[in-house]
Amino acid sequence: MTSAGGGLDEVWRDVLVVARREFGEKAVEQWLDQVTLASVTRDLATLEAPTRFLADWIERNFGQALVRMIGQADPAVRRVQVTVRERAPRREPSAPVEMFTPAPETERGLNSAPLDPRFTFDSFVVGKPNELAHAAARRVAECPDASFNPVFLHGGVGLGKTHLMHAIAAHLQASRPGVKVLYLSAEQFMYRFIQALRFRDTITFKEQFRSVDVLMVDDVQFIAGKDSTQEEFFHTFNALIDQKKQIVISGDSSPDRIEGIEERIRSRLQWGLVVDIHPADYELRLGILHSKAERIMATHPEIVLDPKVLEMLAHRINSNVRVLEGALTRLVAFASLVGRRIDLDMAQECLADLLRAAERKVTIEEIKRRVADHYNLRLSDLVSARRARAVARPRQVAMYLAKNLTSKSLPEIGRGFGGRDHTTVIHAVKKIEALRESDSQLSEDVELLRRMLEA
Ligand code: ADP
Ligand code: MG
Repeated sequence: MTSAGGGLDEVWRDVLVVARREFGEKAVEQWLDQVTLASVTRDLATLEAPTRFLADWIERNFGQALVRMIGQADPAVRRVQVTVRERAPRREPSAPVEMFTPAPETERGLNSAPLDPRFTFDSFVVGKPNELAHAAARRVAECPDASFNPVFLHGGVGLGKTHLMHAIAAHLQASRPGVKVLYLSAEQFMYRFIQALRFRDTITFKEQFRSVDVLMVDDVQFIAGKDSTQEEFFHTFNALIDQKKQIVISGDSSPDRIEGIEERIRSRLQWGLVVDIHPADYELRLGILHSKAERIMATHPEIVLDPKVLEMLAHRINSNVRVLEGALTRLVAFASLVGRRIDLDMAQECLADLLRAAERKVTIEEIKRRVADHYNLRLSDLVSARRARAVARPRQVAMYLAKNLTSKSLPEIGRGFGGRDHTTVIHAVKKIEALRESDSQLSEDVELLRRMLEA
């Protein structure tokens, strides 16, 4: 070590503290925790990782950030290399051995993510905005012969993409038990890939994925910006397409508008059938409410719902189906608690905040202004590149609010904060969600800001 005060271990510990703040607990645990700082010679810091995969991944994805972070202890450092640690490391007697045991998967192969039993074709209400997506999903469910491959469903949050994918999986499982269907989110895909790297079991990983008949990957935008995962996804994807296996993918926007995704993946995603789900119009909203209300009343005979209430909800709540459902659930809970018939007055009272929020369109500009005021910052701080905690945290709060109070997409929000990448927005949202659990001051701040913005 040239000029750093402490030893290598100490420097690395400090780097991890900063990395936790910047990348989040999970990322550090999955990647950097297995790495050690082996040496610093002039401008080159050498890290050691347990496997080649891990070493490459870390160098490629964290290299620049690590130069900056290690540079805080030793400004001479300009380059980082990650090498593979020699085997037979010094092992403390009680050292955990999980790292060397194989990943826990069933012998039969990969498990699908659990399916929500409520998400079936029966419970899916079809209207103009989603009829194409529904038809495509039905077609795959009834005949997964890869005549349209891949099928790419896209649309904003809460419009029924996951519902349709679960419906396909459930239908296939019931009608063709021999067909191997694998449904998972892109995040789970990445997680399993990471596990495979960690347990040095990528061969099994590849074999398992390549042996399915129908692969469904939900929320593919998640892998944007995650290079190794994209790479692996691409290979899996191609292998299955070559074998004429059906693939269904969902995303929050059309393939050409997902940012941070490799060109070759983008073009592959456009090969097949690309269908979008539009936001529900009044008729569809009302249809969905009627269908849900019928189900509720079938199981809760004590609940009496005035049809006028459904019309009012369909009319006034136009954000997405999830919010609509939430409103109905709250009404029913309230009604069964106080034992009252659900009429217009009661609904207005019980859903006052929701209805008001639906009425007012909060903008990103307003959010930035409020947050800047609240934390005594300048508006420009929120869009600046500064990473100091005193600025970075309020910026994350503002992004979190933008995600929750506006219908803007992640890339749009990123642009609203000085052209940041949408993955930065995802990180901010997750961070604040986590902090709200543990930091009561922050949780109060967020709640206060939300109320002011929605007032
Ligand atoms: P997405 O995956 O597009 O964000 P989801 O599939 O999770 O949205 O849908 C959100 C909620 O709205 C779910 O509870 C789902 O059942 C419901 N939903 C969405 N569209 C419909 C529809 N057309 N009919 C019935 N329920 C729907
Ligand atoms: Mg979804």
